[in-house]
Amino acid sequence: MKAIRRFTVRPVLPDPLRPLSDLAHNLRWSWHTETRELFQAVEPEVRRTAECDPVRLLGAVSAGRLAELARDEKFLHRLAEASQDLRDYLDGPRWYQEQQELGAELPAAVAYFSPEFGVTAALPQYSGGLGILAGDHLKAASDLGVPLIGVGLLYRHGYFRQSLSRDGWQQEHYPVLDPNELPLALLREADGTPSRVVLALPGGRSLHAHIWQARVGRVPLLMLDSDVEENAPGEREVTDRLYGGGSEHRLFQEMLLGIGGVRAVRTYCRLTGHPEPEVFHTNEGHAGFLGLERIRELSGSGLDFDSAVEAVRAGTVFTTHTPVPAGIDRFDRELVARHFGDDGELPGVCAERILQLGTETYPGGEPGLFNMAVMGLRLAQRANGVSTLHGAVSREMFAGLWPGFDPAEVPVTSVTNGVHAPTWVAPEVFRLRSRYGGAPGRWESAAGVPDRELWDLRRSLRGQLVTEVRERLHASWRVRGAEPAELGWIDSVLDPDVLTIGFARRVPSYKRLTLMLRDRERLTELLLHPTRPVQIVVAGKAHPADDGGKRLVRELVRFSDDPRVRHRIVFLPDYGMAMAQKLYPGCDVWLNNPLRPLEACGTSGMKAALNGCLNLSVLDGWWDEWFEPDFGWAIPTADGLAQDEDRRDDLEAAALYELIEDRVAPRFYDRGGEGLPERWIEMVRRTLGTLGPKVLADRMVCEYVERLYAPAAHARRALEPGTARRLADWKARVRAAWPRVAVDHVEAVAPTAADGSAELGATLLLRVRVALGVLEPDDVEVQAVAGRVDAADGISDAQLFPLKPAGGQDMEGRWLYEGPLALDRTGPYGYTVRVLPAHPLLATGAELGLVALPPEAAGDGAGVLMR
Ligand SMILES: *Cc1c(COP(=O)(O)O)cnc(C)c1O
Repeated sequence: MKAIRRFTVRPVLPDPLRPLSDLAHNLRWSWHTETRELFQAVEPEVRRTAECDPVRLLGAVSAGRLAELARDEKFLHRLAEASQDLRDYLDGPRWYQEQQELGAELPAAVAYFSPEFGVTAALPQYSGGLGILAGDHLKAASDLGVPLIGVGLLYRHGYFRQSLSRDGWQQEHYPVLDPNELPLALLREADGTPSRVVLALPGGRSLHAHIWQARVGRVPLLMLDSDVEENAPGEREVTDRLYGGGSEHRLFQEMLLGIGGVRAVRTYCRLTGHPEPEVFHTNEGHAGFLGLERIRELSGSGLDFDSAVEAVRAGTVFTTHTPVPAGIDRFDRELVARHFGDDGELPGVCAERILQLGTETYPGGEPGLFNMAVMGLRLAQRANGVSTLHGAVSREMFAGLWPGFDPAEVPVTSVTNGVHAPTWVAPEVFRLRSRYGGAPGRWESAAGVPDRELWDLRRSLRGQLVTEVRERLHASWRVRGAEPAELGWIDSVLDPDVLTIGFARRVPSYKRLTLMLRDRERLTELLLHPTRPVQIVVAGKAHPADDGGKRLVRELVRFSDDPRVRHRIVFLPDYGMAMAQKLYPGCDVWLNNPLRPLEACGTSGMKAALNGCLNLSVLDGWWDEWFEPDFGWAIPTADGLAQDEDRRDDLEAAALYELIEDRVAPRFYDRGGEGLPERWIEMVRRTLGTLGPKVLADRMVCEYVERLYAPAAHARRALEPGTARRLADWKARVRAAWPRVAVDHVEAVAPTAADGSAELGATLLLRVRVALGVLEPDDVEVQAVAGRVDAADGISDAQLFPLKPAGGQDMEGRWLYEGPLALDRTGPYGYTVRVLPAHPLLATGAELGLVALPPEAAGDGAGVLMR
């Protein structure tokens, strides 16, 4: 029988156990082993730490057991200790507070917006890397004491749960998540009524949402939920699924996230006294409407649109996460226009101006589309990609928005992602390292661990994974319709002594789930090698609308169903955080074979590395930056064959097989005197010791604070309304005047010889005449750009030499500029001269996308050359 209504009966904890509720409702338990172990002691039946969900557990435990615990002195003592530990963690000064003590100018608070958050398996509000990164960002911010407020949506069904049909086709399930059963609390007004966010929709409708909050250590995470009674049925479904539905549905979600999110932050700060954020950070473009809402707020206090844009830009950081154009949100312009008209969400903000912000103004741009990444870049004075390589790729990708500048100067920097060690390091690894002198939070201390112990640990983790895989495979086959009697073979799936390779990720085509199947015979030989076999664990979800991805999953499943190899290769359905936490530590090698350079960063390999698992990967994302042969392998790529994907896949797959057969497997099976693979163990040690400290989310969050949040807060503070207005006026004046700005004449008072050559160490005096129209020298910077030149006169490794005004205007109104240019490189060398807008409140000279070059440099490259 089906219930017609459901609700949650909350457990009543006996008084002495009350603190359990606080511990359960702060997600710090998800990365604090002692607290998790305390909950396991509440109900020892709960075996899997990673899947432990204290809120559910407290709801399920019997009154009798609770009464027993309330009298158990030992348990109460542990409880008191855990509570005290949490209080200390929440209240004590941490890194951020120390920086402030030392006089650093840091934002009072930062709001961090993301469409998904992967904090724990118990709060399934993520689809993959983007969300898990967001979760790790919050946790590391909490550990460091950064006053962050997370903002997202609460999806009633999360992403989806994956299972397989008998023949290997992905099945999606959407279980209902009842917020009352999740580690969340409703944000309420002083009188106890739930706080509410309301957005006006066209046609007099409105979209209401409640605000749930999760506590991620010190960091509140606000999640908007549209499933409330005030909404019409359509609006109730806005937050039904992550990345589900059509275009308008996505637009509603993004408006709720961006606009509603700012309103939720304001409400939260009003109710709790939390400082207002000075910086807004948008994790990918989906939350970009947050900038429009802040423009509306400022317009309400009397600022015009352009001045409000300046103020908003100053305090906004935009992180782009994908070099795949399909990964960027683009909406039909008409659709956006409909929602931002006069009866839409942001009355009083000019719809035409909003539309301009998302217009693809570069060559090849689609005039009919509204691009969220483009708006993100226009509304953020600071932007970044997520690895060094991805920063470079993003600068190329968005260069069209800064015409006249080399991609290297496009104002998009990079902060390489990191992962939250306490979440991702297996407790066994953590304990071994602390036993040999590693302080908590220090991950480089693998040096002292003896080979034997390191190897025993690896084997034990591999063994745990084997058990886990058999259980999951068994469950999966039951769902696929098999009877237990047919499943005896699963007891001998995988071997705790065989080299174990892991490959788990979402299944967009660029990640190439099935590259390993390119030559099935070859793969089979590797799996069944008589003395040096490998075994492979694969997992991954395809987006529900991606039939291509589902075909890849089926291909892999079918291969691994083959009785010849099924003991050596498995596909596990429903990849998620709980599985990931077992998988990374249990594997010896983590495989990653994306189409370079489409993996912006990748983080699963980092999590593997922290557990002593070695990386075997294409030089893409973070691996391109940090790979060293001492601790892993680079799969050679055939990037040059981007046009011929089949051939490229063939070549790269062949290189992969070869590496495994000739390099990876021999090293693993090459046993020294005591039966230990010494060279392998050395690689594990280097992975832990050299690579480990780099891949941490702490390092990442410190970089965000120092390189992006602090300058953004500084810029925002400088822009009180009067200054914002002056900056906007100045930009308008410069834009209007720019067509008359020109470099008219360049002359080198040169120590160049008659043949045009010059000597290293010489200095050239440049004398330049520029026309500035109605602008003054204070409005611009005139500079020489110099460096090595290629055959087409393109300057690389450019150095900038600012030139100074010398005297006033000449008879024709031109300004004379002069300055030295030091010749400090040998070989083909060249320079050009340019004029850029200059203002102390610009973050870079490229900010306005305006530049004037000498006529002979029209378009690109160097102007004047010497050889
Ligand atoms: C880390 C992680 C990811 C992201 O992995 P990539 O290497 O970035 O593809 C995806 N899903 C889960 C469950 C993860 O833990």
